[in-house]
Amino acid sequence: MTGHHVIVRGASKRYGSLEALCGIDLDLAAGSFTVLLGPSGSGKSTLLRSIAGVEKLDGGTIHFGPRTISDRQTHVKPEKRALAMVFQDYALWPHLTVRQNVAYALRRRRLGGQEAGRRVESMLERVGLGAKSGSYPHELSGGQQQRVALARAIVGEPELILFDEPLSNLDADLREHLRLEIATLTRETGATALYITHDQSEAFALADEVAILNAGVIEQRGSAESIFRHPATPFVARFTGLAG
Ligand code: ADP
Ligand code: MG
Repeated sequence: MTGHHVIVRGASKRYGSLEALCGIDLDLAAGSFTVLLGPSGSGKSTLLRSIAGVEKLDGGTIHFGPRTISDRQTHVKPEKRALAMVFQDYALWPHLTVRQNVAYALRRRRLGGQEAGRRVESMLERVGLGAKSGSYPHELSGGQQQRVALARAIVGEPELILFDEPLSNLDADLREHLRLEIATLTRETGATALYITHDQSEAFALADEVAILNAGVIEQRGSAESIFRHPATPFVARFTGLAG
């Protein structure tokens, strides 16, 4: 839990003439919960997908601890990056039960069937879905489906968990409840977390550290408190609702 787990330097990405990422530097301290906050279209998903390895950067480097996972010559495949992702649309397999969806995350592990089964059931208990393990995704509410996605992300004990606006399809009451569950469960695992959102209150409620992205540029990084006290740019002041 010491030092930096993820170090991004000079990350750049273009789509045609659009510069989606303009030389991003970002550090994720090991075991920390960092929120990347920015408006729609600011490049949040592009950065997260680059860290996941499902997108290739045009320039810059990404390190996981001592490992270079992305640079000019290197592109480590997503499944070799010891990470899990949670998306807005849950991305559960519709033809698999809740139990099977979560067990899918353990398919590459050399676990005995009984050991895997025990881990899956105990993970489902932790997200409050012990009674739903035989159900199919369409039989669950949106919030329950997102809990399954969370269980699937955590059960494989990833070193890094990436969240891409996981709550934006849910209504406000549920969002507040579930965001606390996400933060608590993620912190219990000790994994490093990067959580992206366009919702300021979500960012400030969850983060050890906030990074504010605008048009492919990080405008400010720091604790929620420091950003609240000293917004570095007019954009940050406006976007976080701190402008007088
Ligand atoms: P955010 O997640 O902050 O809403 P994105 O990273 O999805 O932003 O997108 C950043 C910019 O890059 C947007 O202008 C978006 O339209 C553009 N973009 C994202 N993905 C693609 C793509 N595959 N092809 C072309 N443009 C893209
Ligand atoms: Mg996005």
